[in-house]
Amino acid sequence: QPELAGDFGTLMVWADKVRRLKVRANAETPLDCKTAREFGAEGVGLCRTEHMFFDAARITAVRQMILADSEKGRREALDRLLPEQRSDFTEIFLVMAGLPVTIRLLDPPLHEFLPHEEAEFEDVATAAGVGIDVLKRRASELHELNPMLGHRGCRLGVTYPEIYEMQARAIFEAAIDVEEHSGTAPIPEIMIPLVATAKELELMKAIVDAQAKAVFAERGTTIEYLVGTMIELPRAALKAGEIAQSAEFFSFGTNDLTQTTIGISRDDASRFLGTYVDKGIFPRDPFVSIDVEGVGELIQIAAERGRETRPEIKLGICGEHGGDPASIAFCEATGLDYVSASPYRVPIARLAAAQAALKARG
Ligand code: PEP
Ligand code: MG
Repeated sequence: QPELAGDFGTLMVWADKVRRLKVRANAETPLDCKTAREFGAEGVGLCRTEHMFFDAARITAVRQMILADSEKGRREALDRLLPEQRSDFTEIFLVMAGLPVTIRLLDPPLHEFLPHEEAEFEDVATAAGVGIDVLKRRASELHELNPMLGHRGCRLGVTYPEIYEMQARAIFEAAIDVEEHSGTAPIPEIMIPLVATAKELELMKAIVDAQAKAVFAERGTTIEYLVGTMIELPRAALKAGEIAQSAEFFSFGTNDLTQTTIGISRDDASRFLGTYVDKGIFPRDPFVSIDVEGVGELIQIAAERGRETRPEIKLGICGEHGGDPASIAFCEATGLDYVSASPYRVPIARLAAAQAALKARG
């Protein structure tokens, strides 16, 4: 494991001796994963796969998939995306060398994938062999007034299961390839986004498990993996006991959980939240530091109910708050297993986790 140099490195070694919380990183490129490891990350806590789909070389296939009006059309596009997706995961598994990697299945606000320019429509029309008018009609059908509360997260997996099938297949094929080539088995933790109900997760887990079964049979070998969910909607926090029946881990998505709990847009909040903090309505910006009174209570409820169903359930946090010292103290007090922050915040998280552990010991 690479280690930071000098006095800072020594401080980190001390912190690591004291802390209980594991520290992971949010990373989706091999470079981010390398940086994260250099800063001491003990795994990837959130790999946002939608970022991979914006890659210039594959965005046309992604748009073709989204705009297809039949399962057959979607599958054609997905077949083109599978090899690239497999190599995304292969590279990440190689860098992470057996450390856990939480891969979140696609969670796009749909509008970010829809073509807007004429030339973009033309590219999709050529790739899919359909007319531009058909594509434009489909794009307008998919247009949403409120995409952040719309057809994203597992809702996409529910309506178009073949997308999550492709991703799960890519994960298992990559994991087996990496084990065969490096001798070290990756530990994928497959995470379903924006779950509100136990049934959603049950359906999505069935897709993942079916792909595991199929790939393991084709390759004549198996690898260990976990399936879990983000807890990022208040309903999911309240129903965590039922949701835990299909989840081996929960990761608190405190960006969306804050947005949906206090009903303030995470993208526009900065315009007025400063005034709220100045007037003492929130002690700190709730998108930076966990709103302990509201969001925090939901996290505690979810942790408690999840553990009642599944005492060994792994609990982490992967929202921006995972790199914020005050929030890390809350995570320690709540007994989470790990925090996950952007690579450059990993050292701060290690230090904050150590401080929180010392404080907890009194
Ligand atoms: C979250 O909502 O906290 C989260 C980590 O997911 P994203 O920021 O990608 O919505
Ligand atoms: Mg989210």
